[in-house]
Amino acid sequence: MATTANRKPRGRQFFANPGPTNIPDSVLLACAHQTMDFNDPAFIEVYDACVAGLKRVLKTRQHLFMYTGSGHAAWEASLVNLLSPGDAVLILESGYFSESWARMAKDLGLEVRTVAADWRRGVDMAAVRTALAADAKRAIKAVCVVHNETATGMMIPVQEVRAAMDAAGHPALLLADTISSLGSFDFRMDEWGVDAAVGGSQKGLMLPTGMSFTGVSEKAMAAHANARLPKHYFNWTNMLARRHRSFVGTVPIALFYGLQESLRLLEEEGLEMVFARHARLGEAVRRCVAHWSGNNGPQLFCLNPARYSDSVTALLMPEGHDADALRTVALQRFNLSLGGGLGPLMGKVFRIGHLGDLNEPMILGTLSTVELSMKVAGVPHTPGGVEAAIAWLAETA
Ligand code: PLP
Repeated sequence: MATTANRKPRGRQFFANPGPTNIPDSVLLACAHQTMDFNDPAFIEVYDACVAGLKRVLKTRQHLFMYTGSGHAAWEASLVNLLSPGDAVLILESGYFSESWARMAKDLGLEVRTVAADWRRGVDMAAVRTALAADAKRAIKAVCVVHNETATGMMIPVQEVRAAMDAAGHPALLLADTISSLGSFDFRMDEWGVDAAVGGSQKGLMLPTGMSFTGVSEKAMAAHANARLPKHYFNWTNMLARRHRSFVGTVPIALFYGLQESLRLLEEEGLEMVFARHARLGEAVRRCVAHWSGNNGPQLFCLNPARYSDSVTALLMPEGHDADALRTVALQRFNLSLGGGLGPLMGKVFRIGHLGDLNEPMILGTLSTVELSMKVAGVPHTPGGVEAAIAWLAETA
């Protein structure tokens, strides 16, 4: 009988990465906008509506600066606008992305202090309080937390970080990376006392990669006035002098037309409903993985149920089985794209993204194809995980 081994992929690729994510057709079409002057009043109307809409998603009434660049650009912009050479930053370890942000801070001339954490359990808030209380000289100027560690599938409660800072009476700024949480689960910049909220276009906002931004508090604006790290393109003061109050250079208008449509979709569904959809689909994935994990199958990487991520699940492979070999089978045989393990988790972990423009058939198609790929690749598991996902989805339909 013929096999599928050499067949060219046909049908639409199932894309189950944790970002970039699937882009709704209406957003793709909205991006296909003819070039126009970014000072054209018709565009400025769109621009201003996008800024207002994005502030509603961030849940802030304060400032917003936007950049042409991926999430790294917003990380860097936030650090250089708020800090001076030699300032200490306290990074709450969560995984690959907290480490990358720490490396960037070090390269920019900041002193990096870390609250170490087990990547499978996440940072202990008592350790955060202790680190802050020990900083008698108030050398730490910023605490940096990744709200959703995309590499491990773990949510870190930002409001608890704020509570730890308040309990220690520490005046540092609170910087939160919302790159893989914003628009997927609850984030409240103003209510949670976040001073800089970093976000990007290509995940919960369902846009192409290339736009990122920082929501900025009044307190952070005051710190910006005294921050001495070198900057030009990212300099918020330079941006404020421009009509758009962001973008020192050309404005990426196509992304704004896309953003206008993605904000319309989010608000049409309602943010609370968007979050509920992510929570329900995320739980379906977790129930499926919990079932597979019997018989020495892949396990949920995150061991802290209170911190399960509703936008991405990382699966730890059984000893002796390579995650990338499984991903290759999924991609080359069945045209399913899964996320890989990052940094030290490469080959050990694979990731299922469940954020953005997503519904039950997409989740079930992904899970079924992972189960099929495990069967073909000889990865042990308890068959029938998809049934567990279906049972949950039916129960909550
Ligand atoms: N922070 C988090 C939590 C991420 O998931 C990512 C990318 O996936 C980044 C930062 C870096 O963003 P970018 O790849 O858009 O530069």
